[in-house]
Amino acid sequence: MRAFQLVGWRQPPELREVPTPEPGPAQVLVKVAGAGACHSDLHIMQAPGPLAGFTNPPFTLGHENAGWVERLGPGVTGFAPGDPVIVYGAWGCGGCANCREGRENYCQKRAGEGPGLGGGHDGGMAEYLLVPAARYLIPLGTLDPRQAAPLSDAGLTSYHAVKRSLHLLGPGSTAVVIGAGGLGQMTIQILRVLSAATTVVAVDSDAGKLETAQRLGAEEALLSGDEAIARIRDMTEQQGAQLVLDMVGMDATLRMAARVARVLGHLTIVGLGGGALPVDFSSPPHECSVASPYWGSLTELMDVITLAQQEKIKVLVEYFPLQRANEAYQLLHDGRIQGRAVITP
Ligand code: NAD
Ligand code: ZN
Repeated sequence: MRAFQLVGWRQPPELREVPTPEPGPAQVLVKVAGAGACHSDLHIMQAPGPLAGFTNPPFTLGHENAGWVERLGPGVTGFAPGDPVIVYGAWGCGGCANCREGRENYCQKRAGEGPGLGGGHDGGMAEYLLVPAARYLIPLGTLDPRQAAPLSDAGLTSYHAVKRSLHLLGPGSTAVVIGAGGLGQMTIQILRVLSAATTVVAVDSDAGKLETAQRLGAEEALLSGDEAIARIRDMTEQQGAQLVLDMVGMDATLRMAARVARVLGHLTIVGLGGGALPVDFSSPPHECSVASPYWGSLTELMDVITLAQQEKIKVLVEYFPLQRANEAYQLLHDGRIQGRAVITP
C-alpha cells in the first residue's frame, strides 16, 4: 500500500510503498477514509533532530484518522467490516494508574515513546491503518469519516482544553481563543455549545480566519497585537478573561495571553510553538493557573462525536488525495488552509 512517511529527521516526508499490515490478535485493520493534516506534524517535520521520546523514522504520519473497519484480528468482536469508525490516537499501556483512570493521553509507561500513532507508530496517511485494540474505535453512525477525521485531535484536544475550565465560565465570563486555525475553530464552537453564557473572543493574525471565527460563533474577532490586548481588557473592565487558550504557543502569543488573562483565571497553552511565557510581578496574573494539556480521553472523544452527530460542531475541511499530501502541508505552513486539510487515501 502507499503511505506518506517521515523518512528521517529534517527530511521532507515521502510517499512510499510499504507492506499492508495484517491484524494480529486483538488488532483491527481500518481502511482510511481521511487523515487530518495537523500543525503538530509541521513541528515534527521541522524538528532540528530526534524528538525527545519519539521513535526514529521511518513512520507514517497522520494522527487524526477515520475510516471503515476492513478486517478484525483473531478474537475481536463488536465491529464488522464496513463499519464507519473514528480512531482514538493516544494509545496508552492500559495498565498504569492514568490509563486505568481513563487518561490514556497521560499514560505513564508510554510517556517516553512518543504520542501514539503518527509519531512513532504508523499513522493514517496510508491506505490502511493498524489499530492495536478495538476499544480505540468509536462508531461514527451517519457521520462521513472523511469529514469526521479531524474530530479525533482538533476536536478532542479542544474539547479537553475547554472542559477542564468550564467551572470558570459563568454568566458574564469571557474566553479568549488565540489562533483560529484547525484547533481554534473547534475550540470556539465547543465554548459556544458548552458555555452559552460566555463571551467568546477570537484573536488571529489572519483576517480570513477571523471571519471564519465569527461565523462559527465568536462574538469578537480581533487582529493579533496590542490593540487586541487593549480591547479585551476594556471588555472585561480591566480584569482580563476567565479563560485564555493559546492555540499557537509562540513568544508573541504567550505574551498576549499573559496580559489578557485574569487573576485566578486559567491560561491554557495548547499550541506547541516553542515560545516562552514571560514571568514577572504581574505576569501571569496572580494565581492564574497555567496548563499545557495534551490531546484528550476516549470518553471525551465519545462526547465530541455526539456533539458532531447532533450538528452542534463541525469541521471545515479541504480534501487532498495522498499524492498531494506534501502540498497540503505546504499550504498549512503558509497559512493558506482555511479550516483543516484532510488527506483522503
Ligand atoms: P493551524 O495552522 O491550523 O492554526 C494556527 C492558527 O494560528 C492560524 O489561524 C494562524 O493564522 C494563527 N496564528 C499564527 N500566528 C499567530 C499570532 N502571532 N497571533 C495570532 N494567531 C496566530 O494549526 P492547528 O493545527 O490548529 O494547531 C495549532 C497548534 O496546536 C500547533 O502548534 C499544534 O502543534 C498544536 N497542537 C497541540 C495539541 C495538544 O495536544 N497540545 C494537539 C494538536 C495540535
Ligand atoms: Zn494534532
